[in-house]
Amino acid sequence: MTATTATQAADIVAALLFIFSLAGLSQHRTSRAGVVYGIGGMALALVATIIVAGRDISGGAVALILVAMAAGGAAGLWRARRVEMTQMPELIAVLHSFVGLAAVLVGWNSYYEVESHGSAQTRIAHDLLRIHHAEVFIGIFIGAVTFTGSVVAFLKLSARIKSSPLMLPGKNALNLGALAAFVGLTIWFAASPDLGLMIAITVLALALGVHLVASIGGGDMPVVVSMLNSYSGWAAAAAGFLLNNNLLIVTGALVGSSGAYLSYIMCKAMNRSFISVIAGGFGIEAPTGGDTEQGEHRETSAEEAAELLAGAASVIITPGYGMAVAQAQHPVAELTRSLRERGVEVRFGVHPVAGRLPGHMNVLLAEAKVPYDIVLEMDEINDDFADTTVVLVIGANDTVNPAAAEDPTSPIAGMPVLRVWEAENVVVFKRSMASGYAGVQNPLFFRENSSMLFGDAKKSVEAILAALATAQGGPPAAARQGARPSQQPTPA
Ligand code: NDP
Repeated sequence: MTATTATQAADIVAALLFIFSLAGLSQHRTSRAGVVYGIGGMALALVATIIVAGRDISGGAVALILVAMAAGGAAGLWRARRVEMTQMPELIAVLHSFVGLAAVLVGWNSYYEVESHGSAQTRIAHDLLRIHHAEVFIGIFIGAVTFTGSVVAFLKLSARIKSSPLMLPGKNALNLGALAAFVGLTIWFAASPDLGLMIAITVLALALGVHLVASIGGGDMPVVVSMLNSYSGWAAAAAGFLLNNNLLIVTGALVGSSGAYLSYIMCKAMNRSFISVIAGGFGIEAPTGGDTEQGEHRETSAEEAAELLAGAASVIITPGYGMAVAQAQHPVAELTRSLRERGVEVRFGVHPVAGRLPGHMNVLLAEAKVPYDIVLEMDEINDDFADTTVVLVIGANDTVNPAAAEDPTSPIAGMPVLRVWEAENVVVFKRSMASGYAGVQNPLFFRENSSMLFGDAKKSVEAILAALATAQGGPPAAARQGARPSQQPTPA
């Protein structure tokens, strides 16, 4: 087998491993295997690429590549070990920005290579030069939009800038104008590759990336993260065309299409128009209301909450971002165990965009060893709230906001939410009356059946556990008259 055939074979195996990786990552139980396939595919891809590069470049250049890889690998390992679970979305946004920047640099490099050496030395047939020019332009455009869009997403997700949408006058016309200019400039550049046009497209795409993501409101950020994931894939595929690297094209297309599909699924879950979100919040109005209070709220204490729980027949816990911030998942799992041992039916209702990344709550609950069978998705549990004695809203806000279902003027109108307010009692764990990520006040807090348990969620749950332990008990809830029997009282 020649070196070329061997690297082509390695490329195919690596591409298959990436496909297995995506398939594995789609389910809890197989996600570890998915990660292992991904690492295997990437290791193989790197070795094959270095072998190919090693044939054309000097030993010194290969050494430089190895040094760059070691430095990048060490930096990546260091960040991955230190990052908090709540910072994952911002880390992902930063990583997407690197892919975008790399695509821009590859585009510029490819432009200079062809301009300074001509088509003969760069192995591009003269007839194909125009296609190459178009590839350069498209690669730079997608890369630059991904780069600045991801930087703005990082700033929003890490709360360094406000998450509310930027509402420039004529924002839709600005986006459409930028797209039209891109098409026009690409045709011009293919005919006459001029440095001025390269600068123009880079500046235009950098500005468009900022505007697209800045125009999207906080509630739609989950879609933005998966959308940028998709863009970063297409940016990598564009770089693959410029570098003549088939594996990069395949990998980029896999990331691009799976990211686009994830964005589509999330838009459906949030009842948002896919086109509207990818077009920078086309047709979405600025949020109103903010933190304005909407009546009187009632406060409760850990002791009162413990009493309510001890007497409950059924409890549903709806976790949100605040549970992740407080790292309350372990005491929450402990509370679940304790209540189930008393015969209380306890289940979890998880909203598809609770927290700050898809599956955030499922990961935390799995880490705390909450059994999978009591963790239900929104659609599986939404009809059961009306028959539930107590709902514990632990650090969730937007995902339990009745305004989404009841107020057509709300910025989150139409987004499906957990209908917690239908339960007999709702206890909301948070630190203040502040609004959630979408910046919209929550009428749930002012309902007659709601009470607020203020404080850090972890401390509040621990205080409830302590109160339950010292409570002079009564018989377990299931034994009381009228209480519903609990389902499978296996301890958590
Ligand atoms: P929200 O972000 O709406 O609200 C979280 C609440 O937790 C806040 O109101 C906050 O109130 C409270 N909180 C914060 N820290 C603590 C703490 N230590 N103890 C107790 N409470 C705390 O949460 P949801 O999960 O309901 O909604 C997620 C939001 O994030 C949605 O708008 C979603 O669109 C968006 N998003 C989701 C992504 C995803 O992929 N899942 C990605 C990006 C955005 P207080 O400050 O008063 O304590």
